[in-house]
Amino acid sequence: MRIAVVRETAPGERRVAVVPEVVTRLARLKLEVAVERGAGLSAGFPDEAYAAAGAMLAAGPAEALAGAALWLKVQPPRPEEAEPLAEGATLVSFLPAAARPGLLPVLSRRRASALAMELVPRITRAQSMDALSSQATLAGYKAVLLGASAMGKILPMLTTAAGTLAPAKAFILGAGVAGLQAIATARRLGAVVSAFDVRPAVKEQVQSLGATFVAAAQVQAEGQGGYARELAEEQQRLVLEAVGKHVVDQDLVITTAQVPGRPAPRLLTRDMVRAMRPGAVIVDLAAESGGNCELTRAGETVQEAGVTVLGPLNLPATLPLHASQMYARNLLALAQHLVRDGALALDVADEITGAMAVVHQGEVRKP
Ligand code: NAD
Repeated sequence: MRIAVVRETAPGERRVAVVPEVVTRLARLKLEVAVERGAGLSAGFPDEAYAAAGAMLAAGPAEALAGAALWLKVQPPRPEEAEPLAEGATLVSFLPAAARPGLLPVLSRRRASALAMELVPRITRAQSMDALSSQATLAGYKAVLLGASAMGKILPMLTTAAGTLAPAKAFILGAGVAGLQAIATARRLGAVVSAFDVRPAVKEQVQSLGATFVAAAQVQAEGQGGYARELAEEQQRLVLEAVGKHVVDQDLVITTAQVPGRPAPRLLTRDMVRAMRPGAVIVDLAAESGGNCELTRAGETVQEAGVTVLGPLNLPATLPLHASQMYARNLLALAQHLVRDGALALDVADEITGAMAVVHQGEVRKP
């Protein structure tokens, strides 16, 4: 069976779905990989490395896709990119709802199937396939570096002949996968770190990383599957009060709060930002889903009363080598789950495959 890997064409996307090391491991499953020339270059993987790993190099996307039963990708393809897909083939990529309307009819006509990587269930058995987690870890790390470079001060305490510099204070809002990595990164850089979340269960994880936990009294919003739920009005007021009190003397604020299927919760208002120290920096990782900060503009930098608000998009693509390596390993784990005797066996009654299948053999299951 053949797998196709093409060059990502979304603006700013530097990742590639499969890295050479994973080509070798797919070969052990009796899978042949066709890689479009140049597909891995922006992530640091030249064509020669793919060829040495046993991949076939294809001149363009159509050649890579010809005869492939499985198409591994990072970003959802544009509808016209999916046209050359072979009849009955399966696409695996991130497939956010916004990308589906134009694409699903093309996949249906091809009697194709499509599995969405953001729909991997958060269960122990699927942990190795969990690309949301692998990519969020990198985003949490990069957010701290971005914030640190936008600051006018350093993070660690420094004792020198020119006097002592106090360590910077970093505050992480939302202590999920990205938030925990942001805490660890800010700690490694020497900041004094605190974190806030509405799931009391994360308190221990925050403390085990050497940060202090800031809680809003009486707010507990643990939802299903380890995620948070949306807050009721009174709880939201208590959250803003707790965050507002704590944020005033922070130097670096990283926000990562999300509620599945809802706009990002609002945790920082304009007034709260105005009350912060001039020179402080906010990095809003929820920019894509509306922002945790009222002032955030997706993909832009905003200044308000001396405070800088960054709303970066697609941070994993700015660490393309490791992001691709982790994503490719997630895909390898999924392939190991899906392939039997060298052929794809898509069983939508399976807990993992069923949760991910947006289209199955031409039938749209999750419009
Ligand atoms: P996420 O991206 O949905 O949210 C990030 C964080 O924001 C979460 O910790 C959430 O509690 C927090 N949040 C939501 N609303 C908030 C608010 N109003 N104020 C402050 N914080 C708020 O979550 P995620 O990082 O993808 O994962 C969350 C949790 O899911 C993990 O910590 C873990 O326990 C669990 N998980 C399990 C698995 C698995 O078992 N395979 C894999 C990944 C994650």
